[in-house]
Amino acid sequence: MLATGFFNVPDPQNEPVLSYAPGTRERDELKKLILNYRENPVDIPMFIGGKEVRTGNTIDIHPPHDHQHLLGHYHQGGEKEVKMAIDAALKARNSWASFPWEQRAAIFLKAADLLSGPYRLRMNAATMLGQSKNIFQAEIDAACELTDFLRFNVKFMTDLYKFQPNSPPGVWNRLEWRPLEGFVFALTPFNFTSIAGNLPTAPAIMGNVVVWKPSKAQVYSAQVIMEVLREAGLPDGVINMVFAPGPVVSKIILSHPHFAGLHYTGSTEVFQEIWKTIGNNIYKYHTYPRVVGETGGKDFVMVHESADMRQVVTAISRGAFEYQGQKCSAVSRVYVPDNKWPEIKEMLLSDLASFTMGGPEDFSNFINAVIDEGAFERLKKVIDRIRREKKAAIIAGGKTYKKTGYFIEPTVVLADDPYYFAMQEEFFGPILTMHVYPAAKFAETLEICDNTSIYALTGSIFARERKVIELASRKLVNAAGNFYINDKPTGAVVGQQPFGGSRGSGTNDKAGSVLNLIRWLSPRSVKETFVPPVNYRYPFMVER
Ligand code: NAD
Repeated sequence: MLATGFFNVPDPQNEPVLSYAPGTRERDELKKLILNYRENPVDIPMFIGGKEVRTGNTIDIHPPHDHQHLLGHYHQGGEKEVKMAIDAALKARNSWASFPWEQRAAIFLKAADLLSGPYRLRMNAATMLGQSKNIFQAEIDAACELTDFLRFNVKFMTDLYKFQPNSPPGVWNRLEWRPLEGFVFALTPFNFTSIAGNLPTAPAIMGNVVVWKPSKAQVYSAQVIMEVLREAGLPDGVINMVFAPGPVVSKIILSHPHFAGLHYTGSTEVFQEIWKTIGNNIYKYHTYPRVVGETGGKDFVMVHESADMRQVVTAISRGAFEYQGQKCSAVSRVYVPDNKWPEIKEMLLSDLASFTMGGPEDFSNFINAVIDEGAFERLKKVIDRIRREKKAAIIAGGKTYKKTGYFIEPTVVLADDPYYFAMQEEFFGPILTMHVYPAAKFAETLEICDNTSIYALTGSIFARERKVIELASRKLVNAAGNFYINDKPTGAVVGQQPFGGSRGSGTNDKAGSVLNLIRWLSPRSVKETFVPPVNYRYPFMVER
């Protein structure tokens, strides 16, 4: 007998952030775990169809802040493993799509409790070592945000299922929320463990099967996500994790007839390339694929002379440099009124002088390393170019070191030209560009801010005058998908500020909200008529 009911899922609350302050249990346990991880290199397989897959073609993993140290290795796959992953996903598709929704919900709610409970410190330690995040950055990302994604998405799923059409007398109209017919490709970035976990799980929560390719720089924490999902009881083949070069994975997946959706976060160039391939292959697909992509940003802080300058500087110090500026939402251009510049400059340089930089194992470090040698060299080139061109001044930082780890000093650039390349391009590192404008030209500067970059991800206005806040909100209406008033433009929280940008920054499908989940569904409208007519003639057809 099938037991059934209209079940309510637990009301989600944001996972509380632990402090890891001296004397706390979590701090001592985490420190021990980090030592243990450093001493015991791991062997990381792919997970395909519920099985661990090893190719023997191993790639070493090193902490970005200590690149001579070995954390372990992962097994690199190729075309064969990508095909295996697609086959495993399609094999699991029918049973997963017809699995009762409350059983699906229970798996992901259990995963959230495992993650915020017994796996919390493991998840954080892996993120700290593998992605060079200090404990606070790891905690808000890997432990809290990923837990939030899982719990809130389950709730949002039920909200969506409740969305149903009207039914006049004699008819029952229903919307059936079907998962997509095929498999979803989740392609994830290095910088947030939570995004790496959310992109495959959000479609899976809605009943889809997934092939997930994490970034090579996030494999160390990706394996913990997979372990949590397996322990939570995720059936074999629902999420298949493959490690292979992006272009190899894309080539196979994007030409497969049952490719049904892309859930992507990463750089704009890669997204545009993938979209182009999807366009070229459109005739090959069984259904039109859903394309969801959150990409780059050139996130701004616009300062009005009425703002509280201490608040402004704190927002810049945190927003531009936490996690070494490697957040899509990181502040990377700031507009400052000339009559407040000396005050802001002094406070900002004093904040920067107090920053400590080094590995996250030492909890006193605020700044850690950038993700890998490629990022290091790219950022160094940007700094060298700014120095060489002499069109802007480097007023803080600018030094780089790579002997033990990939360290770039938090760097502040002062540009007279508001359209200088450093005001326009995303660097994805600890390089902030500031432009000082005449205080009387605030409205004109809003226009410059709006038309400077191809992106529209996040941005802030700092002001105390309400009419200024109103003006900025209106003029910058399309300049950011996440707009902040007197707050830094980073740190969006699931269930509070649905996240995503438009213009060059992505499809703005708002991760961690009902708006994102709806993309992984293809509703079927069902009309049932209880007593159907038996005569085709209408009353109007009678002449007399
Ligand atoms: P990336 O573009 O280098 O990589 C993203 C993913 O795509 C990785 O898994 C990578 O292996 C894969 N990839 C790379 N080249 C590929 C190719 N030619 N074909 C197929 N796949 C390919 O990005 P990243 O360095 O991991 O992340 C940083 C970028 O992500 C930044 O631009 C940042 O702004 C963006 N980001 C955006 C958001 C958002 O919500 N808007 C959030 C986080 C990061």
